Amino acid sequence: EQRLSSRVRAIAPSATMSVDAKTKALIREGRPVVNMSVGEPDFDTPVPAAFAGIRAITGGNTRYTPSAGTLELRQAIAAKLMEENGLPYKPEQIVVSNGAKHSLFNVFLALCDPGDEVILPAPYWVSYPEQIRLSGATPVIVPCDESTGFKITPEQLERVITPRTRAFLLNSPSNPTGAVYSEAELQALGEVLLRHDIYVVADEIYERLVYGVKHVSLAAVVPELMPRTIVVNGFSKAFAMTGWRLGYIAAPLDIAKAVDSLQSHSTGSPSTISQAAGVVALRSFDPQMVAEFERRRNRLVQGLRELPGVECLMPDGAFYVFPNVSKLLTARWEGQEIGTTTRLCELLLEQELVATVPGEAFGAPNNIRLSYATAYENIETAIERMHRFVQRLL
Ligand code: PLP
Repeated sequence: EQRLSSRVRAIAPSATMSVDAKTKALIREGRPVVNMSVGEPDFDTPVPAAFAGIRAITGGNTRYTPSAGTLELRQAIAAKLMEENGLPYKPEQIVVSNGAKHSLFNVFLALCDPGDEVILPAPYWVSYPEQIRLSGATPVIVPCDESTGFKITPEQLERVITPRTRAFLLNSPSNPTGAVYSEAELQALGEVLLRHDIYVVADEIYERLVYGVKHVSLAAVVPELMPRTIVVNGFSKAFAMTGWRLGYIAAPLDIAKAVDSLQSHSTGSPSTISQAAGVVALRSFDPQMVAEFERRRNRLVQGLRELPGVECLMPDGAFYVFPNVSKLLTARWEGQEIGTTTRLCELLLEQELVATVPGEAFGAPNNIRLSYATAYENIETAIERMHRFVQRLL
C-alpha cells in the first residue's frame, strides 16, 4: 500500500540537494565556501520599495486583497508590459501570485490534462519538468547544446510537436544557460508555432538582466500569438525581491480568470505588503545592478576559459554561466573516473570549497552552473581555487 499519492511519487528529488546540503553544512562549520550555486541577486531590495512595504504594514494595509492581486498593482504591471515589452494587456488579464514559481504552477494546472505534452528545451530550470508532471502532463525534453547557443531551433521545435502537444515553454533569458533569443530567432520559432494550435508559456523573469543584447517578448514579435501566449514574470530577479514572493502572469482573459479561480481556492491573494512594495519596485529599477553583473560575468567567463578542459560560451543574460566540463569527467580521482558532473561538483566543493550546481539537474550532463550573483572578489577566489583543482585532476 502506497503512503503517498502517485502525483508526488512522480517528482524526482532535486539533484542539487546533496551539493546544497553539503554547502550549507560547510558554511555552518565556518568553512570559507565560495558559493556560486545561488539563484538570487546579492543586492538589496530598492529602498523605496522596501519603505512602501513598511508603510503598508504600519498604515494598516494588511488585509486580504482580491485573489488576482490589487487593481493598483495589476494596472502598474499592465502599464509596464505595454511600455517595456510592447504587450497590450488589460489589468483583468493579469494575475499576481506568490512568486513566478507559483505563477508557473498555476499555469500548468490551468492548461494541462493527463496525457498532454509540454515541450521543454533543455537545459531547463529545475522546476519546469516537475511542475509539468504535477499537472499530469509529460515534459517532452528537447536537448540543446552549445552548437546553437543552447537554444531550440525551429526545426527541432517542429519535429517534436504532436497532436498531444499542449504548450511550449520558452525561457529567455535562460536559467541555467543565460541564453537570450534574438528577435529573428523568435520570429522563426513563431512561424512554427503559428502553424500549430498550442500555447506558449514565456518565462521572462530575467528580462532585465541582459548584457549588450535586447530582450524581446515573443508575442511582441509575433502578435498573432497573443491569444495563446502566457507571459510569466516576477519581482525576484529584477528588483532583488526573492523573499517578498511576488510574481505574475499576463494571459488571455479566459486563462487569467481560470488561474484566478484556481488561486482563490488554493493560496488566496498574494501578500498585501509585497504587492504594495511591488507597485513602487516597478519604478525603482537599478541599472547599476546590471552593470555590476556584466563586469562579474566577463571576469568569470575569462577565468573559466583559462581552465584546461573547460569550454565556456559567453552568456547574454541572467546571472549564470554554464561551462562545458565534459573533458574533466573522464579524469580520475583516487583511481575512480569522475563520470558525472554531480561527482565533479561534489569534489570541487569538498576539495576547494567552491559550490556549483551539476548540469544533471538541468538536463545537461556535460555542464555545470555557476552563479555570479556574488561579490567580484569571490569570483576571483573561485577561479583561483578551480584552477588549482583542475591542475590536481589532469
Ligand atoms: N523562473 C526561472 C527561470 C527562475 O530561475 C526562477 C527562480 O529561480 C523562477 C522562475 C521563480 O522565481 P520566483 O518564484 O522567486 O519569482
